[in-house]
Amino acid sequence: MSDARPPVFRARGIEKVYRMGEVEVRALRGVDVDLYEGELVVLLGPSGSGKSTLLNILGGLDAPSAGTVSWRDHDLATRDDRLLTRYRRDHVGFVFQFYNLVPSLTARENVALAAEISEHPLRPEEALERVGLGDRLDHFPAQLSGGEQQRVAIARAVVKRPDVLLCDEPTGALDAATGRLVLEVLDRVNREVGTTTVLITHNASIADMADRVIALSDGRIVRERVNATKKRPAELSW
Ligand code: ADP
Repeated sequence: MSDARPPVFRARGIEKVYRMGEVEVRALRGVDVDLYEGELVVLLGPSGSGKSTLLNILGGLDAPSAGTVSWRDHDLATRDDRLLTRYRRDHVGFVFQFYNLVPSLTARENVALAAEISEHPLRPEEALERVGLGDRLDHFPAQLSGGEQQRVAIARAVVKRPDVLLCDEPTGALDAATGRLVLEVLDRVNREVGTTTVLITHNASIADMADRVIALSDGRIVRERVNATKKRPAELSW
């Protein structure tokens, strides 16, 4: 990606220390990172390397212990929870490994719930069509496969037209073929809507679909690469 454009995320010297009684865990140890508008970035690293901690800070779910981090003119290192809540609500869509759908609501109702608290949402039906579930609107989660439930969760994130989509191991609970379908959906949203997307994985094969790969180890960025050609999710194997 060109450095001529200003980054949308800018983080400098981020540290995160978790304190549990006497024990201190240094989850991030001085992370500097810039992310650009419309990029699909994969954060790659083994379990415990700090990926979720970094994603949570970028998503305003948690604040760093030290350092500066911003999304456009929003300060994400603030301790003001109201500001972080507003940033999350107005700008960020989250997708997690587990789908966390409301079991008593249909796919359409799960997505509508998120649409109701957003300012300029898509229609829930349109969001579900985007993820290829236009024919599953009235199914309950228990009537959907794991991959379909994850696609409902993506529709729920996308319905609010977020500027940023943050995905934490979105294929972690899925077999490879189903995982590829879910990645196709994320890739399509990124390409068609231009949503800046950060995707966490410990699976190095998935990194080939990214514009840029940032590798973490032990709380630090240890490698970065730009993929000259991106693979389509259908071409990935693991
Ligand atoms: P990854 O996403 O790469 O698996 P995490 O960011 O979840 O890594 O965790 C980084 C380190 O921080 C790990 O050692 C983990 O045990 C620790 N950690 C994460 N969250 C917490 C927490 N809420 N309280 C205490 N320690 C935590």
